[in-house]
Amino acid sequence: MESTQPKSVPPCPFTKLYPSQLIRDEAFFMKLAYNQAIDAWKAGEVPIGAVIEYEGQIIGADHNRVESTQDPTAHAEILAITQAARHRGDWRLNGARLFVTKEPCPMCSGATAMARISHVYYAHTDPKMGCLGGASSIHQLPQLNHHMEVTSGVLEEECRELLQAFFALKRIESKR
Ligand SMILES: [Zn+2]
Repeated sequence: MESTQPKSVPPCPFTKLYPSQLIRDEAFFMKLAYNQAIDAWKAGEVPIGAVIEYEGQIIGADHNRVESTQDPTAHAEILAITQAARHRGDWRLNGARLFVTKEPCPMCSGATAMARISHVYYAHTDPKMGCLGGASSIHQLPQLNHHMEVTSGVLEEECRELLQAFFALKRIESKR
């Protein structure tokens, strides 16, 4: 559902990507996460999106909803993980892959490990708060039983530009 643009955020200058359904590679799923991030922007949220794929099927897709829910845990990854677990009727998401437009924060990095996600792909690193290689590496805790693959850099420029533009335009808006 497309939501109307709230006044508190500048209009989104980016358009959604429409990847070919025939080539379901990493970029395909990240483009869907990117589209979720655009929906977040249009809903007045920080533009971060996440998609969870399992056996070629999307079983979770959402974007950041911290503002609309006033819930600090309503990050894209958490919401997508909840959907995916509900879809499978199992909290264990072994074999599932999560695609997110920015490196997960401490909470979401922890959640991906707790959910036993097999592979996390993120577009760009967050050197301040990222916990899958950026600021820290939760997935490499020596006592962690679950082994998780992590890949960064998928659709990196597009996702970084979207997030940086959001904050840059918001700063300009707030000075008016
Ligand atoms: Zn998070």
